[in-house]
Amino acid sequence: LSTDVSIIQCKSYEQGPLKSALTEALALIGGIESFVKANERVLIKPNLVISTSKGSAVTTNPELIGVIIDMVRSVGAHPIVGDSPGIESAKKVAESSGLMDVVRDKKAEFIELSTPVNIEYRKGKKFKRFVVAKEALDADKIINVAKLKTHAQMYLTMGVKNIFGCVPGKRKAQWHFTAGVDTDSFADMLLDLYNLMNPALTVLDGVTSMEGNGPTSGDSRETGFLLASSNAIALDHAAALLICADPKDVPILKRAMANKLSGSNMDDINILGQDNATQALRVSDFNFPPLVSTNFVQKLPDFIERRLRKSISSRPHIESTICTLCNICVSICPTEVMTNIDEMGVKINYDGCIRCFCCQEMCPHRAITVKEGWLKRLIPGI
Ligand code: SF4
Ligand code: SF4
Repeated sequence: LSTDVSIIQCKSYEQGPLKSALTEALALIGGIESFVKANERVLIKPNLVISTSKGSAVTTNPELIGVIIDMVRSVGAHPIVGDSPGIESAKKVAESSGLMDVVRDKKAEFIELSTPVNIEYRKGKKFKRFVVAKEALDADKIINVAKLKTHAQMYLTMGVKNIFGCVPGKRKAQWHFTAGVDTDSFADMLLDLYNLMNPALTVLDGVTSMEGNGPTSGDSRETGFLLASSNAIALDHAAALLICADPKDVPILKRAMANKLSGSNMDDINILGQDNATQALRVSDFNFPPLVSTNFVQKLPDFIERRLRKSISSRPHIESTICTLCNICVSICPTEVMTNIDEMGVKINYDGCIRCFCCQEMCPHRAITVKEGWLKRLIPGI
């Protein structure tokens, strides 16, 4: 598996600069024709996590999807745009972000990744069975178009994490339940799922990224680059280094390294692009979410480990003055530990909370923030 990653400066979502930057990025790794062939049905999979306003950094930028639609058509293939957000329809999110305008303008097909299919995956390192969307399996090729954003549970969401959208709607929450508080286990699942779906090409939208309270309530940050690779692990690794994150702090990369997956060793990654791209485009002051580091408790007896892990790990906090009592978080919580007590607002039973941060991700009003665990606040170095 190739570990080539192209990194190209791109500071604008205007069609001209965007098209020339992406063309250059793809040319360095073989051109669009080396990833898709004539007559293939190509699923272009953006990040459509939640409804948002036009131009926001919550979703993959619609103009980038428009450029990719044209590129897929240029080789005689058939582009289909689709995703499966956690609670809303993909169409609703695409309307809010402006993507549907682009899809209509380009007269492209748009689909919901909504039909669940059980699939066995014997090659999975840890997870051998998945429920994924039939629409994604039916595509001849997948082009994975991720957004660079912070993520409360996974630290960063990039190429590998974006493939989680191939799991239909609320079934995503069941995976959080399966993995429990164990972020490594969730990362292992995401890596197995990524290898199962095996996108032909991953493009990372880092023209404008999201920092802080991501992946839906953070702040836009001009980072000014596009990355492209057939290997999303290598791409994620290169992107993490570009924004000066330690790859070991990104659970997906940490687990990829532990399992020696292709693209996990930076020495093997071949960066292509402007001379010295990683230096020239480096962002040294990106605002990351609190680190969830619970490794040292793993050797303790189970019952102490569980208690310690929860007191160290970050937890969701509801800002009652912002909360509109819309109940979306209550309906999405996989462990059903959130309750809406009308006069008192939404309450969380932290004993049962698995720190999946689905509530923080899905809150449409930015009312949920991530607070460090009480023990971590007391002893910052742990
Ligand atoms: S999703 Fe956000 S606004 Fe809605 S009830 Fe939950 S915390 Fe409040
Ligand atoms: S309260 Fe939030 S973080 Fe905790 S389990 Fe429910 S959705 Fe996940």
